[in-house]
Amino acid sequence: STFKDLGLNEDLLQAITDMGFETPSEVQAQAIPLLLNEEDRDLVALAQTGTGKTAAFGFPMLQKIDVDSRTTQGLILSPTRELCLQITNEIKAYGKYCNGLNVVAIYGGASITDQAKQVKRGAQIVVATPGRMKDMISRRMVDISKIQYSVLDEADEMLNMGFYEDITEILSHTPEDKSTWLFSATMPKEVATIAKKFMYNPLEITV
Ligand code: AMP
Repeated sequence: STFKDLGLNEDLLQAITDMGFETPSEVQAQAIPLLLNEEDRDLVALAQTGTGKTAAFGFPMLQKIDVDSRTTQGLILSPTRELCLQITNEIKAYGKYCNGLNVVAIYGGASITDQAKQVKRGAQIVVATPGRMKDMISRRMVDISKIQYSVLDEADEMLNMGFYEDITEILSHTPEDKSTWLFSATMPKEVATIAKKFMYNPLEITV
């Protein structure tokens, strides 16, 4: 299949051409049509890193959010600062023709005031590590009460690193009716527990 066959819009197709992507990877071919076409279902995807999973959740999120609104609509949680920055840069590149798009990275070890300022300018998508995210929520520096799409990326890693409580706390500040897309390389008990607790009748894919 081609990216066009998957149902992506012209803004995204142009960015994909610029990046030199020719064919969708397997996780992209499976996830993108489901996330675009199904009526906002939850998704559990078993996929390793390096399989193109950032685009698998990034393209549908970019296509579904409203860039004319400044409300924060998409939240991506990832285990480390490096991954958080990498995802942010990828989403920015994929969304370069989505006029008005603002993507902000929130992670520990950098100025919280600077990050709060960036959020305040209006970010439709926030990419965050759990600890700093929780901190900013408690200081009312970020509002995730209108989130429609949440991604738990490398869920097994986040749980290994002890972020269960933080994730639970963060998700308790998001609306019940949002969609949750969970990506994990492995499916240990803890990930299944999270999926059961926060997701409703999820679609499932394995690559
Ligand atoms: P990820 O697994 O999301 O970290 O992606 C791994 C790398 O593959 C990143 O550098 C992406 O830019 C690149 N990539 C993602 N999708 C594709 C694709 N369909 N074709 C070529 N490269 C891709």
